[in-house]
Amino acid sequence: MLILECPYCGLHADETELAPGGEAHLKRFGPGSSDDDFEGYLFMRENPKGVHFERWRHANGCGKWFHAARDTNTLEVFGTYSAQTTEPPQDIKDKISARRPGWTWREFA
Ligand SMILES: [Zn+2]
Repeated sequence: MLILECPYCGLHADETELAPGGEAHLKRFGPGSSDDDFEGYLFMRENPKGVHFERWRHANGCGKWFHAARDTNTLEVFGTYSAQTTEPPQDIKDKISARRPGWTWREFA
C-alpha cells in the first residue's frame, strides 16, 4: 500500500486518504503561446517506470495539495513537499540520485 507523509499536517496517510492529481510540475503556457505548447500542457504526460513526480491531495485529512517523488516500479517514496514549488527540493533530488544514479525526469536530474 502506498503511504505518503503529508508535508502540511505531518500525518502518514495511506492511499485511501489521498486523491491523486496527476503529474507534478506541469508548465502552463499563457496567452500568445503556440497551439503545440497548449496541446502539450493539456495532454502530454510522462509515464515512467521509475522516478516520477506526482500531485496528491490529502482529501480525507487536511485537504491540501502536495507533491510526492516516488518510484512507480518499486513504490519507494523519496519524499513529499509543498505544491507551491516549481521544482523538487534539492534534498529530495539528492536522495533520488543516491538511490537511482543517473536518473532524469523532464529537465530535472
Ligand atoms: Zn495533510
